[in-house]
Parts: sequence; structure tokens; C-alpha cells
Amino acid sequence: MAEQGAGEGREDRAEGRGRVFSGMQPSGEAHIGNYLGALRQWVELQERYECFFCIVDEHAITGEFTPAELPERVFDLAVSFLAVGLDPERSTIFVQSDVAEHVRLAWIFNSVTPVGDLERMTQYKDKSSRRESVPAGLLNYPILQAADILLYRAGHVPVGEDQIQHLELAREIARRWNGRFGDLFPEPEAILSPAGRILGLDGAAKMSKSMGNTVGILDEPEAIQARVRTAVTDPQRIRRDDPGRPEVCNVFTLHQHFTPAEQIPDIAAQCRGGTRGCVECKQILAEHIGDHFAEARARASELKAHPDRVLAVLDAGAERARREARKTMDAVREQMGMVWRKRLQPTGDLR
Ligand code: SF4
Repeated sequence: MAEQGAGEGREDRAEGRGRVFSGMQPSGEAHIGNYLGALRQWVELQERYECFFCIVDEHAITGEFTPAELPERVFDLAVSFLAVGLDPERSTIFVQSDVAEHVRLAWIFNSVTPVGDLERMTQYKDKSSRRESVPAGLLNYPILQAADILLYRAGHVPVGEDQIQHLELAREIARRWNGRFGDLFPEPEAILSPAGRILGLDGAAKMSKSMGNTVGILDEPEAIQARVRTAVTDPQRIRRDDPGRPEVCNVFTLHQHFTPAEQIPDIAAQCRGGTRGCVECKQILAEHIGDHFAEARARASELKAHPDRVLAVLDAGAERARREARKTMDAVREQMGMVWRKRLQPTGDLR
């Protein structure tokens, strides 16, 4: 992997490939849910698409956050991106707030999106029901998401199942805007994550830092062992020699992602036969998780020792993203008649 951003000739390589956009909130170092649900797929998509990968800090501020922690969280997520193999020579990696056009396009989309469409979003209903005072940003969140994608006129968006409804709204916004102001935006297609919903160590909720049920991809092997030791297993298995049910155990699901395929039948058989205890089963899983990310840990410690390299990647990514975003916004303003300079000064610069 190269150490810094946008390489010469990328425009040529991008020719003829479809464009992908995806974003992730800056919650610090990635965890295995982020990896299985998104990052692993993003690394593969770089081979086939022209990709824009964004750290969406403007989405993050719609929830609870501590300003003093935000820069570190952005940096740590950027390190995770690069450590798992996102390649700035092939992909545009940047921070959302470095490209002002995201919020500008979101405002434009506010003008074509009915409030009712936003109010029926499942995620809005869920999050707003848990808050006394609901910020408008929480309601408008999917509009900003639509702007993120459509700003780059991306045709494909890797998403988890819980984001399909938002993507459908983005398609609807594209249709509405195109219908009113003329064809400009493609209707982006979902590329579904093959991993499905990744449950946390509690075996109940989606893996997420806010639930405290994660394993960090850059954790040291001892820390991974300590975290995995807390994982919930088959609740019917009380004693070591009780027969277990791997099909209901989230530890087994994680084995299927990290343990070599040829060992999976043995893990299942020993669980069912009560010949291997859960403690040992979890130790084996933790070892495989640790091994899986050994290379990523080494890359991350190199990057943390040279933060200037990470900043250079994000700066170059933002520069390239801004170039693409401005092309779209110029077309948006032109088609919407927001070109008053032309009236007064026919050769005027639209910016
Ligand atoms: Fe889960 Fe492994 Fe225990 Fe079976 S032995 S219940 S798969 S942790």
C-alpha cells in the first residue's frame, strides 16, 4: 500500500469503471463488526470500481458526541481504513466536512423531500423515540446521506440491510430532483454486505461501540482474548460436557468468519458432542481473530508513528473529492437557475 494520496494516472484507470460511494461514522478504531459488515467488502470493491470512501463526521454530530474526542476518532478510523487495505492510490479516502458541497447539496435536496418521507424512516423513529428533544439533523440525516452519494453520482453503494430504506429514499430524491430539474443523478443500486447483520459479544444487539459489545480490529492479542472471553454463548450449555448448539451461538458465527474453513466442522461437532468447552472454543476464536489482523496491526502502528502520512492521504482525498463535487454542484446550480451572475455577466465564473 502506498503511503500517500491520489496518484498520477488514476483518472485513466477509473475510466469505464462504475463509481461506488460509502461512508462510516468516526467512532475511532474500527471493530470486527465494521470490518465484516463493510471494510472487508470495500477492500474488494477497489478492484472493480472507482471508490469514494468517506469518514462522515457531519453525520456523527447528529448524535451525542464530545468535540474534544472527534479529531482523534476521525484519525483512528482513517488509520483503520488504511491498515485493512484501503488504498489511496486506487480509492478516494476523505473526511466529509472537508468537502463543503455535501451540506450544500443536502440543503438543495431539502427542497424536494417531503417531511413525511423522513418521518417514516425506521432509524429516525427508533432514535427519536429514545430522545426527549429531537434535533432536526436526526430527521434530515437521510437527506445528507443522499447528498453524500449523489454528489459523486455514484451508481453503487455498499450497505448493510439496515440502510436499505435510506438508500431507497436517496433513489427517490434523485428521481424527484431529476423529474423537476432535468436528468443529472443516477439512481444508486445497493451492493449488499454478504456478512449480514453482525451481532456483538452479547449475541443480541448489532455490534457497536455504543453498546460496548465490540472487539477492536487493532487490539493486541491479549486484549482480544479478554474481550472474546466475555462473549455470550448457547445459554442452554451450563456444564462443559453439555451438548451445545452452534447454530444459536454467536461465537460459532464469528468462527465462520475468522477460523479456517477446514476447522469449522470440528468446532461444530465438538460443541454438539460436549467435548470442547466454551472457554476453549472462545480462546481458539480469539487466536484466529488476532492472527487475521496481525498485518493490519503492524500497518497501523507504522501509520500512528507517522501521522503526517495519514493526513496526506486525507488531504489528497479531500482535494480529489472536492473536484468531483464541484462539477456536480455546478450542474445542479445551472439546472436550478442558481446562476445569477450569468444574467449580469455572461462570462462570469459560476463559483
Ligand atoms: Fe458456542 Fe463454542 Fe460454546 Fe458451542 S462450544 S456453545 S460454539 S462457544
